Amino acid sequence: MKKIFLLFVVLGFFSFIEATNLHKKNNSDTISLVSVSIAPQAFFVEKIAGDTLKVNVILPSNANEHHFEFKPSIMKKLEKSDIYFTIGLEFEKVFLNKFHHNFPKLEIVNMQKNISLLDFKDSHHRNQKDPHTWLDPILVQTMAVNIYNTLIKKYPKNKDLYKKNLDQFLAELDSLNLQISSKLEKLKQREFVVYHPSWAYFSKRYHLTQIPVEILGKEPKIKDLQKLITLVKEKNIKIIFVQNGFPEKAAKTLARECDAKIFEINHLSKDWENELLRISDALKAK
Ligand SMILES: [Zn+2]
Repeated sequence: MKKIFLLFVVLGFFSFIEATNLHKKNNSDTISLVSVSIAPQAFFVEKIAGDTLKVNVILPSNANEHHFEFKPSIMKKLEKSDIYFTIGLEFEKVFLNKFHHNFPKLEIVNMQKNISLLDFKDSHHRNQKDPHTWLDPILVQTMAVNIYNTLIKKYPKNKDLYKKNLDQFLAELDSLNLQISSKLEKLKQREFVVYHPSWAYFSKRYHLTQIPVEILGKEPKIKDLQKLITLVKEKNIKIIFVQNGFPEKAAKTLARECDAKIFEINHLSKDWENELLRISDALKAK
């Protein structure tokens, strides 16, 4: 009887220990938090960090990355973050200019360090650089190195893991680049129509030309739309790419007038790799 009682005491003790450990594991306060502006950046950070960090994405899905404002709830998440990785978007500049001084402990890291940015093609965006570097796998390699360099400084105890993850991710990006190249290699029609011109770096990498529907971040005026209809008919382009969170009226009119198909893409998807493959396949199939 005494022995059985003792066994229960011992078992009880062990389950108590286990419960405490479990509690520690589930307590998210023990895992450091870092913030990023858009979901593809979260995909990149998680590739390097594994599950050693939690990543907070500032831009909600289905939002337009160029028309977004900081809300108090976002500020709270930033306050809890060790690092904020920026990617050259307008709303980040507002944060850096106005609110940054309220977060003395928050380390700001430009994820686009060592990347030479392209100018926006249309002449109205004077002195503005094109931020959409995250859609080119080779530029993402530079960003991955930037993430790695930042994380090993902040969390040196994870250096070996981060190095292993970095090497693996760089290899994956090489293979993704080769896959996309071979899909697009023999494409005859190298011009494509897309609502929001976020594909300049992708186009440059794979020798394509994007023709935007949007003008200066807005729906085109009737006159501009008519010009575009003529151009698309002339070039016999049969697919119009549109993005979540952006207006579709002009794109739909264009598709109808030119007997083209609408194809929805998401340049802000966290399922980043598949999204690049999906647009490559769509370009190939058109
Ligand atoms: Zn954009």
